[in-house]
Amino acid sequence: MSKEIDEMAERLKNLTSDLTSTLKEARIATVSPAAPSAPQPYRQKIEKLSSEVVDSNPYSRLMALQRMGIVKDYEKIRDKTVAVVGVGGVGSVVAEMLTRCGIGKLILFDYDKVEIANMNRLFYQPHQSGLSKVEAARDTLIHVNPDVEIETHNFNITTMENFGKFVERITNGSKTNGKVDLVLSCVDNFEARMAVNTACNEENQIWIESGVSEDAVSGHIQYIEPGKTACFACVPPLVVASNIDEKTLKREGVCAASLPTTMAVVAGFLVMNTLKYLLQFGEVSPYVGYNALKDFFPRDSIKPNPSCDDRHCILRQKEYQEKLKNQPEIEVEEKIEDDFVVHEENNWGIELVDESIEVKKEATNSGKTAEGLKFAYEAAEKSEEPSQETSEKSSANLADLMAQLKRLQS
Ligand SMILES: [Zn+2]
Repeated sequence: MSKEIDEMAERLKNLTSDLTSTLKEARIATVSPAAPSAPQPYRQKIEKLSSEVVDSNPYSRLMALQRMGIVKDYEKIRDKTVAVVGVGGVGSVVAEMLTRCGIGKLILFDYDKVEIANMNRLFYQPHQSGLSKVEAARDTLIHVNPDVEIETHNFNITTMENFGKFVERITNGSKTNGKVDLVLSCVDNFEARMAVNTACNEENQIWIESGVSEDAVSGHIQYIEPGKTACFACVPPLVVASNIDEKTLKREGVCAASLPTTMAVVAGFLVMNTLKYLLQFGEVSPYVGYNALKDFFPRDSIKPNPSCDDRHCILRQKEYQEKLKNQPEIEVEEKIEDDFVVHEENNWGIELVDESIEVKKEATNSGKTAEGLKFAYEAAEKSEEPSQETSEKSSANLADLMAQLKRLQS
């Protein structure tokens, strides 16, 4: 009897030991991190866009734009390449929207890392903090739509060496190794905007500038076609007046405010105008401002400055004038465009800073009590009769004004 008890005790001991090691292995398997691997897209690439209305077709709602007569040939979007400079609060959302719309190729430029302090904005997630923004963006976007080709550059375009690389990529980076179709500037500083401006004037590249104010309650987009519209160096940039004293905002060491709302509105305007430009429907807006405090959206357009500091801008202006001479129908087209616009009194205090600068005011509505637009570093209040003070201000040269802006935006 005692022998049987001993045998049973032995078997029980072995069983317990087996169970313990099994549990141990199971726990190790549970806590072991998965082997690192490149993120795999959730579906195969799609060769041809289909308008078939089935739940599994990621393009059915986009192709419906064709059926409804909004866009003539939506599939053309797959041939298009867009460079996005800056993939922060605005640029990352822009990149996501274009990816979801099935853009052919995106070239992303940024040199920042994702930080927890960015989590009040859209797109990036806490687990991505520490990754470079372009890398984190690519990882997300290839999941969203594996049909989009994504090229990333983790460098600052304003250094001499990187500026050359930037110019090379916007010149040869398209799907067919040619010029990109559009450059979108989503940067937050003056130097980077000037770098994009210089590159685009040199390469005769159409681009759209965007910005959100440091108080987070206004923003804008501006379509820039070298020679035809004002470039970023032609006139001081227009901004949306917000009635907030900028001196209280822009103190040394004070952190700029940001809201996901304003950034998403600006990103939406930027991508909508990108789609209109790439797929040729509707009207591409020359300038749209956004005043979040009053939900007001002023529009405007600015002609190039014949004495712009950028010599390539002057060259592009001459080329454009030549083109107008040879193709007078372009002028007719523009005249028709102008007829859509109601020219109003200067209700928003838009003003000229330099007598040599021609600013064409285009008002879409009277907006009597609404805030309007002003140049980034000129007060909007001015009497209709030019005073002595006004003419003194007007004679300030552009370089001085640019220097002032640089201080404001740094
Ligand atoms: Zn210019």
